[in-house]
Amino acid sequence: MIDSHAHIQFEVYDEDREAMLKRAWDRGLDHIICIGGEKKRNAQALELAKNCGKIRAVLGIHPLNAGDYSKELEEEIKEQLKMKEAVAIGEIGLDYHNNVYPKELQWEVFHAELSLAEETGLPIVVHSRDAYEDTLAILKEHTVKKGQIHCFSYDAECAEEFLALGFHVSFCGPITFKNGQQQRSASQVVPLDRLLVETDCPYMAPEPHRGTRNEPSYVVEIALAHAKLRGLSYDEIDRAVTDNAKKLFML
Ligand SMILES: [Zn+2]
Ligand SMILES: [Zn+2]
Repeated sequence: MIDSHAHIQFEVYDEDREAMLKRAWDRGLDHIICIGGEKKRNAQALELAKNCGKIRAVLGIHPLNAGDYSKELEEEIKEQLKMKEAVAIGEIGLDYHNNVYPKELQWEVFHAELSLAEETGLPIVVHSRDAYEDTLAILKEHTVKKGQIHCFSYDAECAEEFLALGFHVSFCGPITFKNGQQQRSASQVVPLDRLLVETDCPYMAPEPHRGTRNEPSYVVEIALAHAKLRGLSYDEIDRAVTDNAKKLFML
């Protein structure tokens, strides 16, 4: 099992990070993908990955940090991406829900990060909230077609569009929520070999932990929800999502 999208560098884990990681390994996780998104978070993700071979880092500029973008920061990320602990560029994309920065600036940064992906050949981790059409349009302008559309929140038709481009679709906590019907039906159109699971911790803990601090060990609950939806065993889902993440991130 692999938690393909986790923010384990966040301060909420400073008190008990070792114990939190141990719970994940004890529950059968063999990797955690630690996602950056700004200068400090990128460096912290890389540090965790250097200290543990089962943690790998994803580095980039989150759309909610688009204002931080500079040539210097881009150069720094480019250097960091040369390290073997760095496996992808992310999370990058568009966020019109929180809309911290103007759309134009988000587009510019997203384009720059996609060009970096083309240059390095690395996969991408995409964050897209209330920005389905523009995300798809910008992705279509670039040649990078491997990556994770993370915490998928759109409907089944939208999922099909991202799949058609070649991307993996990834689901987090809401798939276990009572009001997660849209995510559940979207998950049905994702072929088993393009499915990923993630916690996006510390946010959005799955049932029965909803409302508490999320952590990578809870990715098991998300995988169990997929198993139930597809009429498969936990082992079958485990094998598929582990394989998919290993191939995508070259673990
Ligand atoms: Zn995100
Ligand atoms: Zn995230």
